[in-house]
Amino acid sequence: MAQIDLKNIAHSYAAAPSSEDDFALKKLDVSWQDGGAYALLGPSGCGKTTLLNIISGLLHPTQGAVLFDGADITPKPPEARNIAQVFQFPVIYDTMTVYQNLAFPLQNRKVPKRQIDVRVRRLADMLELSKYLSRKARDLSADEKQKISLGRGLIREDVAAILFDEPLTVIDPQLKWSLRSQLKRLHAEFNHTMIYVTHDQTEALTFADQVIVMSEGEIVQTASPQELFERPAHTFVGRFIGSPGMNVLPCAIDNTNVILAGHAINIGRNVTLPSDAERIELGVRPEFVKISTDENALPATVEAIEDAGRYRIARLRLHDLQLAVILPDGAALPSGTTGVIFDTENTHIYADGHLVERRA
Ligand code: ATP
Repeated sequence: MAQIDLKNIAHSYAAAPSSEDDFALKKLDVSWQDGGAYALLGPSGCGKTTLLNIISGLLHPTQGAVLFDGADITPKPPEARNIAQVFQFPVIYDTMTVYQNLAFPLQNRKVPKRQIDVRVRRLADMLELSKYLSRKARDLSADEKQKISLGRGLIREDVAAILFDEPLTVIDPQLKWSLRSQLKRLHAEFNHTMIYVTHDQTEALTFADQVIVMSEGEIVQTASPQELFERPAHTFVGRFIGSPGMNVLPCAIDNTNVILAGHAINIGRNVTLPSDAERIELGVRPEFVKISTDENALPATVEAIEDAGRYRIARLRLHDLQLAVILPDGAALPSGTTGVIFDTENTHIYADGHLVERRA
């Protein structure tokens, strides 16, 4: 296992990049700790696979260096990097048995037979493949084949890191849930440095201790799942994470008051806006807004109530703004004209998309 540092990395697929727009990855500096569980999360096309391929050596970056435990490995090919990789689709040998598929990466490295046997059986057990060990891989379902792929990625103990590129895409939704938890357990037990690429927030948030949120070739925030939820550093993160995402509403600031839809809300602290800020917004998650008929509540009109399965969402209108509110379990359903109160601790101010740090 290794600590991975990316120094001043940028990548363009263009032969002669002439502007920032030509770069699939803008300048990045990243440090990933030995044994950490990380997720790269972002929408399609934001540069996740490009970044992963630079770490594995499948892609040589236009600029910058990749360091494993402080050693510069940028010029090294993938086979010299000691990395295990699991892709979106199964990479297995169809004519081999499940046992042979799992054992193969270890046999290649001349690991003693007894040791291979222990490791193969242990992983097969954790991935619920034990009963298939003597079956040919080609006879198994797509889900089981992808489990073999996961097993092959996890089988070696001596890898610098394990990279997963959307590994659960082909997996049945029911099984996805259990495999996500199994991967988390495997990480806790084996303590490999793991980097997991996904555009699915649930996968990223369940698997990783630290999530790297990317947008348009840049890292927007690196934080724990809890921090991404409670303190999104950018309105992009607020909207992208959560279901529904954070409410982002245009506002103005007047000392400790936020002026929103013509009403003043005291957020209990001063905010200092950057002098060149052009767009000021208030961000509050639907979980942190309460329906209330209290005299301090902002007047709002209920437009719809949606049933999201585990909870209900009220869609409200505040003057000309739209606001989503997650209703607590068992709460009476609001209708017509009502009011809302924001949890000020969890109400944030953003200038041109960026969180404005709080000041006492
Ligand atoms: P996805 O989830 O769809 O795989 P991603 O976040 O992994 O997306 P990348 O595949 O890294 O994103 O792509 C980043 C950008 O680079 C995109 O604009 C994509 O079109 C472009 N790109 C990726 N591979 C190539 C390539 N081989 N040649 C040219 N452009 C590419």
